[in-house]
Amino acid sequence: MKHNFGAGPGILPHEVLKQAAAGVLDLNGIGLSILEISHRSAEFEAILDEAVKLVKELLEVPEGYSVLFLQGGASTQFALAPYNLLPEGGKAAYLETGVWANKAMKEAKFFGEVQVVASSKESNFTYIPKDFVIPADAAYFHITSNNTIYGTQSQSFPKSPVPVVCDMSSDIFSRKINVADFGLIYAGAQKNMGPAGTTLVIVKDDILGKSGRKIPAMFNYQVQIEGGSMYNTPPCFAIYVSMLTLNWLKSKGGVAAIEAENIAKAKVLYGEIDRNPLFKGVCAVEDRSHMNVCFVMENPEHEKPFLKLAEEKGIVGIKGHRSVGGFRASIYNALPITSVYVLIDAMQEFAEKNK
Ligand code: PLP
Repeated sequence: MKHNFGAGPGILPHEVLKQAAAGVLDLNGIGLSILEISHRSAEFEAILDEAVKLVKELLEVPEGYSVLFLQGGASTQFALAPYNLLPEGGKAAYLETGVWANKAMKEAKFFGEVQVVASSKESNFTYIPKDFVIPADAAYFHITSNNTIYGTQSQSFPKSPVPVVCDMSSDIFSRKINVADFGLIYAGAQKNMGPAGTTLVIVKDDILGKSGRKIPAMFNYQVQIEGGSMYNTPPCFAIYVSMLTLNWLKSKGGVAAIEAENIAKAKVLYGEIDRNPLFKGVCAVEDRSHMNVCFVMENPEHEKPFLKLAEEKGIVGIKGHRSVGGFRASIYNALPITSVYVLIDAMQEFAEKNK
């Protein structure tokens, strides 16, 4: 097996892949594939119920919130959040921390005014702005918890006078969060939860129905809640594999246990980046992500040969995003620390050869 440091879709646990493959051939011995059973069958309803139950259990979702499995990726939520929450003529507050925040803002502008409370654009998003005021007259405040491209992550969330809407696509289930601090959480599945094709939405019921807008059914959170994520045919396979992955996470001790592992992985990798004279980190140390570790080489001419050495060792997916360059090692939940040590060994071997 390769050491998969890819940013997204990201690595899934091997045992989950095996279970998923079995379910494609014959789901739980019923003689039908997960790909061909009716979404209204008892078998699929049990899968969806279990997936929702696991989300609630793992994230300790309080009463008064609904859990949805939708389609269209996080990019659709960029539009659905304002569609559902922003009244005509109203405004929403955004923290600009990278490309994904920008895309979310762009969509919100179709629905109303966007106020940027702070931005780190001037430094190519190498840090998370902390000094800002959330306007009390905004319909909501939008934040991206982990900036996948730049390798920055909010280590805490601001107290807000208005509901907080959070794009948690690249760090959901990687660390403990307090769901009660948020009005709306959304995340494409394909980092820590499952395959691309479904999007998790956790919404506080009482923030809905206030925008005064007429919203088409598929885009309307309330309709999706009433339909139990089954207003139309849901992405059965993506939900099935998400359920298996969440089950795997539960069997590993849940979010607190995986958070400890993720901290340990990040610590050793950043430790090597800081220690090894050939490499350097790109982000403010206090905002470093525990999911996407971005780094460059002191001598840019070393980058190609290092990538080659890494590939020879079975390391894949570490090339940085084109807007940042260098390297990005995504160390999502399913990546074992042994793979991180393989990367560290490659960094040390390269440094030894290029003294
Ligand atoms: N938000 C963040 C933080 C992401 O990392 C990504 C994709 O990598 C997206 C949004 C877009 O997600 P999707 O492809 O599910 O629309």
